[in-house]
Amino acid sequence: MSAATVKGWCPGAHRPMLAADGLVVRIRPRLARLTAAQALGLCALAQRYGHGYLDLTNRANLQIRGVAEGDHLALIEALADLDLLDTDPAIESRRNILVAPFWQSGDLIHRLSIELIDQLADLPDLPAKIGFAIDTLAQPLLTRDSADIRIERAASGLILRADGAAAGRAVTEDTAIPALLEMAAWLADHLTPDHRRMAQVLAHSPLPPEWCDAPALPAAPAPQIGRQSTGSLIGAAFGQIDAEALAQVIRAQSLQAIRLTPWRMLYLEGGTLPDTDAFLTDPHDPLLRVDACPGAPYCPSSSVETRAFAKRLAPQINGTLHVSGCAKGCARKTAADLTLTGRDGRFDLIRHGTATDTPERRALSPDDILREVNTQ
Ligand code: SF4
Repeated sequence: MSAATVKGWCPGAHRPMLAADGLVVRIRPRLARLTAAQALGLCALAQRYGHGYLDLTNRANLQIRGVAEGDHLALIEALADLDLLDTDPAIESRRNILVAPFWQSGDLIHRLSIELIDQLADLPDLPAKIGFAIDTLAQPLLTRDSADIRIERAASGLILRADGAAAGRAVTEDTAIPALLEMAAWLADHLTPDHRRMAQVLAHSPLPPEWCDAPALPAAPAPQIGRQSTGSLIGAAFGQIDAEALAQVIRAQSLQAIRLTPWRMLYLEGGTLPDTDAFLTDPHDPLLRVDACPGAPYCPSSSVETRAFAKRLAPQINGTLHVSGCAKGCARKTAADLTLTGRDGRFDLIRHGTATDTPERRALSPDDILREVNTQ
């Protein structure tokens, strides 16, 4: 029987979320890496049980949408066969670990991640959204991405840093994970109903001073789509990956593995930029500046189609664009230059704000909006 739960649950493979189009099954590849066999297997599962797409999340996980409740068990068994499933659902829900995706086999990120995975059972009970970042390349890469407790490299050596703090606690490879467990216990003790993430907690509860006396390094520049020294970064518009197209790239380039990033990009290990419009291969592609949630017909809160319209609109917009199926604004919480929110089959328009801000114009059709942006 399916373990589908009410909407609002942070979905996993064991406990998917029920959406308007079926179950949303989230897969959390370990160290954000899929071997070619795993990736091809997932592509086949997305085609067999979902809509044929894999959604890349901002925590470098993948989701298969549109799964029938009656197919959940077969999908779970197939994920287990691909070694993409934790046997214990409780461990799966705790394995919120972001890794800097350019790690090498046996390096510090690899070693620390394995150690943390092995000790997940020792974490205290925490809200499902609490996450960790193992970000120990020369400069931190994941500071803009969601994590509550971070292991980073600083000028003084390794540090353990609470999200929202400008400095961290000096640690070594041997003490990093025990210190992370200690900070997680501190966080569990300081959570309140209104403060459920580390940065919120720090606003009212200062850390012990010795946990924030080693200054963090500035963030590394955001990685760009294109060739890298050992592979290629390609983009997925809205984080949506066409499973058939991905399988073709893997086979055509005889890839050994791919990596997932929290930036709506895939890293092709040893790969080149593919010649296909299924992926973004130009670092200046306007779709890189666009956020759009699934909208109708996938989300019951939406009365408007979002992504096809966002693709039409993107080349006409100079700045950032957010097309949201409703005023909840799931796809983007920060301000965009232009935000459109669906309501009763039309869009409200907000400039330089978020989906929850008061609209400047209301009840516009897609053609109204295209005319409006073309006359500016
Ligand atoms: S923003 Fe609204 S329509 Fe879009 S996914 Fe969230 S709830 Fe659904």
